[in-house]
Amino acid sequence: MTNRIVYSLVVPLYNEELVINESYYRLKSVMDRTLENYEIVFINDGSSDTTRDKMEDICKKDANIKLVNFSRNFGHQAAITAGMNIALGNAIIVIDADLQDPPEAILEMTKKWRQGYNVVYGKRIKREGETFFKKFTAKSYYRLLKSMTTIDIPVDTGDFRLIDRKVCDALNSLPEKNRYIRGLVSWVGYKQTFVEFARQERFAGETKYSLKKMMKLAFDGITSFSYKPLMVAGYFGAFTGLIGAVLLISSIITSVIKSNSILNLGLILSINLIMFGIMSCFLAILGQYIGRISDEGKNRPLYIVESTISHNDLNKNEVLKGTMFSN
Ligand code: UDP
Ligand code: MG
Repeated sequence: MTNRIVYSLVVPLYNEELVINESYYRLKSVMDRTLENYEIVFINDGSSDTTRDKMEDICKKDANIKLVNFSRNFGHQAAITAGMNIALGNAIIVIDADLQDPPEAILEMTKKWRQGYNVVYGKRIKREGETFFKKFTAKSYYRLLKSMTTIDIPVDTGDFRLIDRKVCDALNSLPEKNRYIRGLVSWVGYKQTFVEFARQERFAGETKYSLKKMMKLAFDGITSFSYKPLMVAGYFGAFTGLIGAVLLISSIITSVIKSNSILNLGLILSINLIMFGIMSCFLAILGQYIGRISDEGKNRPLYIVESTISHNDLNKNEVLKGTMFSN
């Protein structure tokens, strides 16, 4: 057996002190069953609890573990990107820390990879322990996104997936800042398949995806892969313009015939308010696109690494500080 790392697990962590030990044991026991060299890259995305201390203890014991500490919370997609940037394996598997994605499904993914697939994504056939709101919004959103894009982004999939080294290299070469990774994986292409799994209840703790983070991810998905919202604004403008023209002509004709106006002040005001509200919505949509163009222009790094820690570093007391990636 060579020293080449075959599998890299990428695990983002944000305030996961309640799940981290169990998560580590479950992941380790599955990876040991592969009988291949592997690494588990944990990305501590600016946790403010004891996640970092707990991870350092694990790192001290296990030479297969790497820990990357961000300088602050940069978000789930940035954490996954950092993991992909530093992963050394021939196949890279992204999995959440909270055990909602069953680690045992990794073995099915590796089997498909061995059969020649370059991407094996996890398809959720059931979601347990999640609120009706989360299930409903997720289901509706994936279908809305699918209807809006020409890229085939599979519905009911998250970021739990295996990607081949060449897919990882392709993703690493994409410079965009507001990353919707599950969409980018579809965009790069290659031979893709899926394994089905039932999404479990969180092992412990609460979701770290606030409504604000969910909205940001949802807009990233749409703005990265579709111009349809802007087209809708155009169609709507044309439609209301037409109605306005018809109303104008009919009001002129009516006032000429009856010598009075069919339009009263209340009607005019309410139509104005409705139009103003709709226009503001479309301006906000435009703003979502323009804001993202501005982010690309600033060209700031996607994340800042405060330190990277591995088993050997810890035992030699050498922690690599202040590394910055500027993907
Ligand atoms: N996470 C992260 N940064 C964040 C939010 C979440 O690294 O800003 C991690 C989190 O620790 C977990 C994964 O991303 O491992 C998915 O988050 P979570 O389980 O809270 O999301 P949900 O499953 O509720 O959508
Ligand atoms: Mg979760």
